[in-house]
Amino acid sequence: MNPREEKLLDARIIPPVKELRLVSEDLFRLEDGCRFTVRGGEAAEVMADARRAWGVEPEITVLPPETSLKDEAYRIEITAGEVSIAASAPAGVRHAMKTLRQLAESERGSLKCSYYVLPSVRIEDEPALGFRGIHLCWFPETPVWEIEKQLRLAAYYKFNYVVIESWGVVKLKSHPEFVWSEFAVEQDEVKRLAALGEELGVTIFPQVNLFGHATVSRTGSGKHVLLDFHPEYAPLFEPDGWTWCISNPVTRQYLTDIVVEIHELFGNPPFFHIGCDEAYNAGSCTSCRRADYPALLQEHMLYFHDLLKQRGARVLMWHDMLLSRGDERWKNYIALGQKDDRPEELLRALPRDVIICDWQYGYPGIEGKEPEWPTMKFFKDSGFEVLVCPWLNIDGIRSLGRLAAREGLAGMLETTWNLNREQNMWTIFSTSARSAWAPFNDEYPDMCYHEFFNRHLREVGHDMGIDHYIQTGRVQYQVNPHDYQP
Ligand SMILES: [Zn+2]
Repeated sequence: MNPREEKLLDARIIPPVKELRLVSEDLFRLEDGCRFTVRGGEAAEVMADARRAWGVEPEITVLPPETSLKDEAYRIEITAGEVSIAASAPAGVRHAMKTLRQLAESERGSLKCSYYVLPSVRIEDEPALGFRGIHLCWFPETPVWEIEKQLRLAAYYKFNYVVIESWGVVKLKSHPEFVWSEFAVEQDEVKRLAALGEELGVTIFPQVNLFGHATVSRTGSGKHVLLDFHPEYAPLFEPDGWTWCISNPVTRQYLTDIVVEIHELFGNPPFFHIGCDEAYNAGSCTSCRRADYPALLQEHMLYFHDLLKQRGARVLMWHDMLLSRGDERWKNYIALGQKDDRPEELLRALPRDVIICDWQYGYPGIEGKEPEWPTMKFFKDSGFEVLVCPWLNIDGIRSLGRLAAREGLAGMLETTWNLNREQNMWTIFSTSARSAWAPFNDEYPDMCYHEFFNRHLREVGHDMGIDHYIQTGRVQYQVNPHDYQP
């Protein structure tokens, strides 16, 4: 056998599998009645995947689970006569079907494809990190189909959690004024996405900012979802509008209404992200600045923690306000808390079931040495589960994936923000999927990864039945990719 063949096959799978061996030159033909043996999964799910991926209905034999494998691990063995998948649970079989879809290619030597083939390989695979999440931003400029595309791609890349942050687009019954009305999305769309996530094996949960980012808009945009058109709501915010005024009891009620409605709307998921990053000018109004602000803040956080706990949801929050800016220990790393607000005290008071999302978007390596990421270790040593949260820095993503695996952290939550397209979309999805699934796999076949990434986007598009130019690929427009026309 040609050793190059094995390399080429290995290189087309995102995230990469742990081990792939080519065992013969035989090909398995994907056609109606082809034989699949499945351990640990459900025939109906495998059938649905086969129909979607290759338009075929295999003959499926279901056998008892392979209990020696971990929850999400799987093994694939392909011969000319059979595809055999072994897992201990349906998640493993789901992952295996995604791997098979990426491995398959159309028949050769014809005008049109009438069947796909799979090579005779043996694959062993399992994820390094338990929590593999991606944080999606639903901007007024983001059409629903774009959120769905990102969600489907995340599932295809074996992420198991998706956070959706609505930037003032989801209509609220409790506060209809808290939305950009001309971009408002019906609640049924959210319910449809939550159901789709479940079908794809991904847990979707929401983010609502309960401290800073109260404008529900990017700072640089200068926009404010509420005050731009409703200045009468000024008492809910600190004087500059950016951070919620937490000494106002009405603010708490307002946010409670939103949190409860959004949690219900997403189907009461087991997690809820409360944001809490970059709370600039916190405690600056007449009432807050004369109060014991750290005590107020602590009470605010514990109230929402308890509210969500009663609803069956664990809280996730960004880390930066929990560390003092200027503390030498965090030099070169993100720490934005004000010393006067005693952030360390707040951290001590937080229940240990809060999951800390430590966002570090750079790569502060010194003299060629890998960064030490001291904040992540500090939160872990303080008794919290920690998610490493990179963004666009490839070295940073890879280093944080290795750190999470090495230190036994809970996992990774990749962020996307306002730059989730073109080259960045590739970085965001393929690099972080790889670093969360296989952080120590250092063979990095960049170029073929770009083209296979594009193929995977097409496959997602086929699943969605998209039929407009702007819905394809990584950008809406090739020439003016930033001109959105939702
Ligand atoms: Zn205030």
